Amino acid sequence: MSDETLSALRGQIDNLNFKILELYNERARVALQIAQRKKELGYPGYDPVREGEMIERLLAANKGPFDDLSIGRLFKELFKNTLELMESHQSQALLSSRRVHPQDTIFNLNGAPLGGANFTILAGPCSLETPQQIEEVAAFLAQRGLKIMRGGAFKPRTSPYSFQGLGLEGLKLFHQIAKRYHLAVLSEIDDPRTVEEAYPYLDMFQIGARNMYNYPLLREVGRQDKPILLKRHFAATLEEFLLSAEYLLQAGAHQIVLCERGIRTFERWTRNTLDLSAVPLLQRQSHLPVVVDISHAVGRRDLLLPLARAARAVGAQGLMLELHPQPQFARSDSQQQLDLQAGAQLLENLKEYGPLS
Ligand code: PEP
Ligand code: MN
Repeated sequence: MSDETLSALRGQIDNLNFKILELYNERARVALQIAQRKKELGYPGYDPVREGEMIERLLAANKGPFDDLSIGRLFKELFKNTLELMESHQSQALLSSRRVHPQDTIFNLNGAPLGGANFTILAGPCSLETPQQIEEVAAFLAQRGLKIMRGGAFKPRTSPYSFQGLGLEGLKLFHQIAKRYHLAVLSEIDDPRTVEEAYPYLDMFQIGARNMYNYPLLREVGRQDKPILLKRHFAATLEEFLLSAEYLLQAGAHQIVLCERGIRTFERWTRNTLDLSAVPLLQRQSHLPVVVDISHAVGRRDLLLPLARAARAVGAQGLMLELHPQPQFARSDSQQQLDLQAGAQLLENLKEYGPLS
């Protein structure tokens, strides 16, 4: 086919395409400037009234050959795409994002590195119960060169009738024993009013899954100068999870670890469903270390080993694991805690992939 008229017309179409492409992107650049200005002024980003007015004016000016329906559809699509672009720019501008902070966040807690290529073990009982129980687990961890111990003193339980933890006295006891074994104390705080009194007795704050949306708590803990483990709520999207981390960062915290601990799905054979894809997705989006809590994710002992291996293989930077000297008598989560012998086997098994910290 070599008709000259046709070729010329095709040339015109090509030129027009490039002009549209240029205008389309130029329009997006202006829209981004508007978004930035609105942010500075504290105005809301999306303005449906103005969008409606723009469409009306465009339709009034439309001389065809496209009819109003077609032009309306085209511009609505264009507005939608621009809004998506603005939102994606906003999410990339978060303090948790790699755009703002390209390098991995890596920090040291009591000699244990968190983040980067390290794989850090955060193990200990679900709830702190007795001096002997705490001591046995502490000795176990210290013997293996581990540096951090978890243990719950304030237990946010689904039922108010379940064991609520030993509270501040339990945390003090934990601190006293852990220090004898040179272990860092990782424990959950569930109330902004408790932060100050608990502060001297812990080395890393844990924000539990149920409290991921507790913004006053996030602000209060974020103001402190100690590392924070933030758990994903069982119904939170990754975007919501990162926005909760943003509260901590905005309040001044830097040493933050994100913890995937399973989300609620229709599946009943496990307590939750471990979302392994969250690990590389969060790492791609954010510079913060990502660890996996296999215990709360599945809620049963028999799946812990394969899932610990999976967490490591998918690139997690650490593992949370519940250990109890006598899980059958544990006052919480007795089905999922490993006894010390099984815990030792699991840790040995994981060393195949490289050192544990
Ligand atoms: C915990 O780690 O002690 C705990 C209660 O887990 P989650 O907040 O993930 O339910
Ligand atoms: Mn537990």
